Amino acid sequence: AEEALRQAQKMEAVGQLTGGIAHDFNNLLTVIAGNIDMATRAIGDAGEGNPRVTRALEGAQKGAQRAASLTQRLLAFARRQPLHPKPIRMDRLIRGMSDLLDRSLGERVEIEFVGAPGLWQVEVDPNELESVIVNLAVNARDAMPDGGKLTIEVSNARLDEGYAARHAEVAPGQYVMLAISDTGTGMPPELLDKVFEPFFTTKEVGKGTGLGLSMVYGLVKQSGGHVKIYSEQDRGTTVKIYLPRLLDETEADGDEGGEEALEES
Ligand code: ADP
Repeated sequence: AEEALRQAQKMEAVGQLTGGIAHDFNNLLTVIAGNIDMATRAIGDAGEGNPRVTRALEGAQKGAQRAASLTQRLLAFARRQPLHPKPIRMDRLIRGMSDLLDRSLGERVEIEFVGAPGLWQVEVDPNELESVIVNLAVNARDAMPDGGKLTIEVSNARLDEGYAARHAEVAPGQYVMLAISDTGTGMPPELLDKVFEPFFTTKEVGKGTGLGLSMVYGLVKQSGGHVKIYSEQDRGTTVKIYLPRLLDETEADGDEGGEEALEES
């Protein structure tokens, strides 16, 4: 519980700090870009076009645009977007993502989906859950530069008292589990402790932001769930997400009438 609280507070603090800085930066960048624009036009109007000055201004303008796109991404991360949770069946959501996943993973990664009949519903923002799955799939791809296999598995799961006792922040009960596994590089144990921290990345500048797993953690926590990561160096990584079962099941979004009833218990 201590650890979860520390992480939540850190996310909150980083979110606020990032949001504040990104917001101020965005305003400053607007001023910078506006002034570069004005200087460019003034030089053009005066007919004193100096190619070196023009090129320098173009460079400055490009830099300002790149900085603006980075601050946009930071703002998107920091913004506490209101979630729009809906009852969904995770297997249907994932089947609907197969084209997107194929495209994100490239040809060298084989994808296997393991479903389960009578999967329980969960209540979660489907767009955010899609982002979570894409984030995890892209991390898996990056860990398999020479190709490999990505397995996505869903199943009903009961986390018992014993499991809850070992994971202080988990309430025992019924969950739907989503596991995403790769056959990639894996991570050493000392890295595993840090991966959920915002901005922690081992990827080169421009490739990773270190926000992927923080986003995963944030959504899972906000949805009352639990996330755990297992990794073995040179063998691969599995991220397991547990979302609480939705108890008063209604027809999930996109369900067609006439389908067999979900199991009742
Ligand atoms: P990013 O992907 O932008 O670096 P993340 O928060 O998603 O940010 O991941 C943080 C770090 O965790 C990565 O830089 C990488 O070192 C490690 N990591 C995440 N997923 C995996 C994986 N499936 N296999 C190996 N390492 C991983």
